[in-house]
Amino acid sequence: MAFFEKIRNGLRKTRNKIGDMFSAIFSSFREVDEEMLDELEEALILSDMGTEAAQDVIAELRRDVQADRLREPEQVRERLTQILTDLVRGEPEADADERSAMGLKLGTVPSIILVVGVNGVGKTTSIGKLANLLRSEGKRVMLAAGDTFRAAAAEQLSIWAERAGADIVRHEEGSDPASVVYDAIQAAKARGCDVIICDTAGRLHNKSNLMRELEKISRVIDRELPGADRETLLVLDATTGQNALLQAKSFKESVDITGLVLAKLDGTAKGGIVIAIKRELDVPVRFVCVGEGIDDLLPFDPEDFAKALF
Ligand code: GDP
Repeated sequence: MAFFEKIRNGLRKTRNKIGDMFSAIFSSFREVDEEMLDELEEALILSDMGTEAAQDVIAELRRDVQADRLREPEQVRERLTQILTDLVRGEPEADADERSAMGLKLGTVPSIILVVGVNGVGKTTSIGKLANLLRSEGKRVMLAAGDTFRAAAAEQLSIWAERAGADIVRHEEGSDPASVVYDAIQAAKARGCDVIICDTAGRLHNKSNLMRELEKISRVIDRELPGADRETLLVLDATTGQNALLQAKSFKESVDITGLVLAKLDGTAKGGIVIAIKRELDVPVRFVCVGEGIDDLLPFDPEDFAKALF
């Protein structure tokens, strides 16, 4: 299935809900007026975009309507889609040319991806899908089962490793996550793996604990893989809306997040959360998940996303 179709299908819920609201507004007005703009603003707020973002979008739209003398609702629809596309896309990244098509900087062999996020958001599933995606590009992938807090976490990750055709290093429940990462690095070097993906503990313990654990893992990586390209991806559950945003803010205070994975986007009618996140945190969305299947992780494409949404 083509990328665009897949994201469209995955976002069916989002699109229908928001699309229905917009269709109703655009078909019930013959000419653009303040009332129409108010209704559009309300629809944007309901999409979980955030009140301020919605107000700013409508302010920009109003300026364009006046400056370009837009009269037809259809012209307004096109202009609104453009504003939202630009908003999701943001500024081009300074190091864009060093990044792969999926937006990650994984030039060194091996390179390393740390994956963080609260239990239940879809972290394990996302790691499995990401491993599969990298495998499909011909990369050798090593998983490190760094969530040693729950035996089930390593168990589940092993199943995904097998599905994706990735190697995995896991230790006993309760063992030191940094030592799992150490062993995974040694194994990856010995086997010539291209990418190591490290799961980390997902319990929402206090910030200083989380920081200490991640710092310890970081020290191991610095020592064993000096100069390696490293990404730290935060997985968020899109169905939790503005709560996902709060979680992201909290993680960002403790960890240097380089990208976001927005999971369960198929399960929400409020895709505007992508815009809220883009606006509030200066962290790019790298992937979206639109289902539980192994192929349901998609590199985030701002333009296709905005088109599929609106
Ligand atoms: P973790 O605790 O963060 O590791 O979360 P899991 O990866 O175990 O996922 C929790 C639940 O969410 C599982 O039942 C997954 O199948 C489901 N899940 C994960 N990602 C998605 C997604 O993109 N769409 C849907 N519909 N379900 C998902």
